[in-house]
Amino acid sequence: MLFAHDTSLALAGTAALVNTAAAPETLRTVGELAEFLDRWEWTGARAGDEAELEEVRALRSRLRELWEVDDERRVAIVNALLRENGALPQLVRHGTWSWHLHAMPDDAPLAARMAVESAMAMADVIRAGETDRLATCAAPDCEGVVVDLSKNRSRKYCSTACTNRVAAAAYRARRHGD
Ligand SMILES: [Zn+2]
Ligand SMILES: [Zn+2]
Repeated sequence: MLFAHDTSLALAGTAALVNTAAAPETLRTVGELAEFLDRWEWTGARAGDEAELEEVRALRSRLRELWEVDDERRVAIVNALLRENGALPQLVRHGTWSWHLHAMPDDAPLAARMAVESAMAMADVIRAGETDRLATCAAPDCEGVVVDLSKNRSRKYCSTACTNRVAAAAYRARRHGD
């Protein structure tokens, strides 16, 4: 296993959050945010209002930067996110989850908790020297980000939709080549 399970989940969740801003936008309403949080099994307080939605939406460009910059800049962003939000790592367990780290209290604002969770996971990637696993989607016309946690570094696309789209295009190209 490359990273601890909570780190892997947080990295995949961070990429998914960033990709909600990749066209088409999929974080348009409070309801869509609630769906996203449920899908990624977010626990803790939720305001469920427009202000919270705006805070989460605004966080995405900053998280996207983590995919686009060099390690020096990446470290600066991670440290800033941890510092600004007053991160304080604590071991916790809840539900079916064994001991893992939460660096923010459960009642802290959602966007702050998302920022810190992403920063903590990214800190693991940086410490492990694995930042080359952060990539952009190889599908044409897709601006999605990818975090490749596969053993053989085979993940190229941000979503199964992109994987299928590229496979279908390759199939069509082969048929027309016959
Ligand atoms: Zn937890
Ligand atoms: Zn894609």
